[in-house]
Amino acid sequence: MENESKRHRILLVEDEESLIDMIRFNLELEGYDVTTAEDGRVALELSEKARFDLCILDIMLPKVDGITVCKTLRLRNQRIPILFLSAKSTGNDRVEGLRAGGDDYLTKPFNLEELLLRVKNLLRLTRLPEPSQTKIRVYEFGGNRVDFENFQIFNLHGEEKNLSKKETSLLKFLIENEGNVVSREEILDTVWGYDVYPTTRTIDNYILSFRKHFEQDSKNPKYFHSVRGVGYKFINSLP
Ligand code: CA
Repeated sequence: MENESKRHRILLVEDEESLIDMIRFNLELEGYDVTTAEDGRVALELSEKARFDLCILDIMLPKVDGITVCKTLRLRNQRIPILFLSAKSTGNDRVEGLRAGGDDYLTKPFNLEELLLRVKNLLRLTRLPEPSQTKIRVYEFGGNRVDFENFQIFNLHGEEKNLSKKETSLLKFLIENEGNVVSREEILDTVWGYDVYPTTRTIDNYILSFRKHFEQDSKNPKYFHSVRGVGYKFINSLP
């Protein structure tokens, strides 16, 4: 059986109380972890702070409507599957929803079994975040040595330091992708998973501390590069 941390997380955005209770209850019976938002603004705030595997999104919502929520998520490059719920059943609405980046569409009143099946289908395409499976235990570059198992580093300045679990995971992810740019989205997915998302500045600060630890000249980095607007890259440039 799936354990607690392996449950799919669903963001339910709906403003009709009776519907919220009914949908939440049934999704939880199916073993999903459900978070609710009663207006579009709250939905956008929640989705910025944590990872969800699916969003069930009503179209007519207070403050920010469902179409705008969907467009905003896509502009943020969040590829979370979106299932629209709408009281309107005109073809136009359906097209508008799909054009905004939605993946599926269900008209109210809907059949509960159908909702659950559609949720299941959309989640089939989604993988749960998994910690890195690579078995690098120790990695050396430029006079530095990283001991991933003990969260310890020995650097070219002759210092021995302990890293946090997150620092270690981020370092490992960058090293595993040596020579390639990794995006903020990929970092959040792999390193943070379901944990509360950090701000962009937090990731920048991790990179800055890596430079201080591992670079000869942290202002002129050889190993840890930021690619503006794209992400970060580790290069093991051998002399
Ligand atoms: Ca509504």
